[in-house]
Amino acid sequence: MSKAIPRIPAWQWPDGFAAPGEHLNVAILAAHGFADYQISIPVHIWRGLKPGPAVFITGALHGDEINGTGAIREIILNPNFELDSGTLVLVPVLNIPGFERHSRYLPDRRDLNRSFPGNDSGSMASRLAHIIFSEIIGRCDYGIDIHTAAVRRTNFPNVRADLSNPEVKRLANAFGAELLVDTIGPKGAMRREACESGCPTILLEAGEVWKVEPTVVEIALRGVRNVLQELGMVAGQPEKPAFRIVAKRTKWIRAESGGFLRFHASPGDLVEKDQLLATNTSLLGQEQSTIISPMDGVILGMTTLPSVAPGDPVCHVAKLRQPIERLERTVEALDDDTLHERLRADLGSNLLIDEPNEVD
Ligand SMILES: [Zn+2]
Repeated sequence: MSKAIPRIPAWQWPDGFAAPGEHLNVAILAAHGFADYQISIPVHIWRGLKPGPAVFITGALHGDEINGTGAIREIILNPNFELDSGTLVLVPVLNIPGFERHSRYLPDRRDLNRSFPGNDSGSMASRLAHIIFSEIIGRCDYGIDIHTAAVRRTNFPNVRADLSNPEVKRLANAFGAELLVDTIGPKGAMRREACESGCPTILLEAGEVWKVEPTVVEIALRGVRNVLQELGMVAGQPEKPAFRIVAKRTKWIRAESGGFLRFHASPGDLVEKDQLLATNTSLLGQEQSTIISPMDGVILGMTTLPSVAPGDPVCHVAKLRQPIERLERTVEALDDDTLHERLRADLGSNLLIDEPNEVD
C-alpha cells in the first residue's frame, strides 16, 4: 500500500511551496476536533538554492516526546549552518492531538507510530498516519525521526536503523552517535514504513518525555548537521564519534520482586556480565534482591522511578559484540567535556546512584 504513494522531488513541488532559498511555513490539515475545529500540523520548509534531496526531520510522533521538538525549533529559529542545496522539511510536532494532551497516544488511545502507512477510511490514527505519509514522507527522499524513552524512563542517545539497507546505513553512520541499534522497527512504525516505501529513515532515541534536555538537543543537532553534510546539502565533513557500538540484541532487565531501587549504574555506562545494576530493597531497607547484567553491554535506557513491582523494567542493556576491555579504555580516555561524557553526566544527574559497596 505504501509503495503506491508517489514520491515528488522537492524542487518539483507545486507552486505555493518554497522557492529556491526561501523559508516557508505551511499547515497540513490533519483532523477535526470533537467541536469541529480544524487540527493542523505546522511544517517549516527550507529550500536551498541548488537542487538536492528533500529530508524530513520530525518530532513528537509520540505526543509527549518533545526533545525532538526542541531540536527542530533550534534549526528553524537558530540554524548553525547554511543550507546549500536540497530541501529541509521540519516538523516539530507530528502528533498534534497527543501533544495537546501531553500524551504519547491519540485521543482514540491508539499509537500513531503503529498506524503507518495508514489509510484514508480507517481509524483516527490510520487517517492521520495516511495524511502524514502522503503529505510529508511521500515528498521526501530521506528522514530523521526523533523520539525519547516512554514515561518514567530515560534513554541514552542511540540511533535505530535497519543497517541491511545501504542508504539507511549511510545516514546512520553519518549521524555519528556512539550507539547504534540495528533494527527494522515494529510493523506500522513510521520509520519502517518510510524505508519500505523508498525513503531511507533513521530514528534517534534520546532522553525523557516532557523535557527539552540541552545535551540531547546538542547531539540531535550535531547528528542532523552530520547527515546533511553527508548528503552534500551543507558544507563540511561529518564529525566521527570517538567510538561506535553497533548492537543487534537488547534486553530489558526486570525487577523480580516489588521494592525500592538503589541504582549502581547510569544511562550510557558500559557494564560487564554479572555486574550489579541495582539493589531492590523493601521500604525499610532490608535487601530483597539484586538486579544483575546478564551480559557485557551498554545501558541504553533505564527507569527513573525507583519504586518497582515484579516485572517492571529497570535497565535496557544492549549486548556488546566487541571486547568490553578495549571500549572501557576508550571511554576512560574521553575528556569530561566531550558530548558523550556530558550526556552521561546529565542523564544520570537526577538519579541517586551508589557504588555497590556502599549498599548495606
Ligand atoms: Zn517514541
